[in-house]
Amino acid sequence: MQYPKQNIPLFMEFKPANKIQDLQYFGEFGGVNPSISDSSTYTFLSAKTMFDTFEGNADGCYLYSRHSSPSNLYLGEALAAMEGTETANVTASGMGAITGVLLELCKANDHIVCSRTIYGGTYAFLKNFAPGFGVQTSFVDITDLKAVEAAITDRTKVLYCESLSNPLLEVADIKALAVIAKKYNLKLVVDNTFSPLSISPKLLGADIIIHSLTKFINGSSDMVGGVVCGTHKFINSLRDVNSGACMLLGSTLDSLRAASILKNLRTLHIRIQQHSKNALYLAEKFEAAGLKTVYPGLVSHPSHLTCKKMLNTAYGFGGMLTIDVGSLAKANELMELMQNKNLGYLAVSLGFYKTLFSSPGSSTSSEIPENEQKAMGLSDGLIRFSVGLDADIERTYLLMIECMTAVELL
Ligand code: PLP
Repeated sequence: MQYPKQNIPLFMEFKPANKIQDLQYFGEFGGVNPSISDSSTYTFLSAKTMFDTFEGNADGCYLYSRHSSPSNLYLGEALAAMEGTETANVTASGMGAITGVLLELCKANDHIVCSRTIYGGTYAFLKNFAPGFGVQTSFVDITDLKAVEAAITDRTKVLYCESLSNPLLEVADIKALAVIAKKYNLKLVVDNTFSPLSISPKLLGADIIIHSLTKFINGSSDMVGGVVCGTHKFINSLRDVNSGACMLLGSTLDSLRAASILKNLRTLHIRIQQHSKNALYLAEKFEAAGLKTVYPGLVSHPSHLTCKKMLNTAYGFGGMLTIDVGSLAKANELMELMQNKNLGYLAVSLGFYKTLFSSPGSSTSSEIPENEQKAMGLSDGLIRFSVGLDADIERTYLLMIECMTAVELL
């Protein structure tokens, strides 16, 4: 029996990697890759068309590459397909996407309710920079839905979180947050940088989805980029020549970079599966060895079931895990030794083919004051791992255990 299409649950229909696979673009001369638009400005056959384009009324015409370019549009459409949104706008960095969205949605006297565990740069923007423009933020435990609701005021415009938070790997219950956002007429903005393909926030009710492309999506640690995925209406407002935050703040991605990210995006599904497989293997082994391990795929994770419910299971729980080794000195000793043994690099960022490890309290979250780090459970001895694509993760684990024994952790 054939079911009518609308009765098929959305999660069965929506296969994000297929959406990327199904896109078909040809280059100018039939190339299998779209041609790269190597121009900052574009000619018009008539002055009238130029005027219409400025007014936003000439579909398919390009104006100036800070506004949009063919290469940026190709990448944006592929990322919109991945996230299941109407369209997307690519930016020069993840922070370019985050700041553009928040400054577009919030004006003086507006208010944001935000998870207290988020990337340090986002935290610093909301805590130190946005108040200068009259935008205030309340930071809450995003897993405590009552606290989230209690923080909303009549000035609140945005509910902001990361699907899996940096660096504590707290899980945002996007479906439940979307219900709260709808009730109070807020925009639910989700940074999905840690879980591309694994979690599809739009399907769970998010309004706007952001990624730092710098991480898993590009996957080769050779560039910085970002994206905002949302409705045509919102993305057009970001690009509006008179009032759009992305257009006027100028966080535009370079076309050459956009073309190169698009090529890497095509292997994302294979890479994420391998990152997730390796991270789950290490997390289970580390926990069994007695290390304090946090990974959303572990049954011991407080939000394991929430995460499992949201997951596109083929892609697993992602490549990020943390262990707590008790002190910064111990963390540094272990990370230096693991780097010396070529088990990965002591570096910030994530999504590289090699494992990357860093101590967030003194690096990517150092913008967060010490007392607040403590309150949110970010301890000195925390090591964040972005687990690499190692073909032989069993060997990696054994060599890591040797390092841990050498620094007297085990
Ligand atoms: N969002 C998350 C979760 C991040 O981890 C980062 C950077 O580490 C960013 C956003 C900012 O991205 P970018 O460095 O590309 O500006």
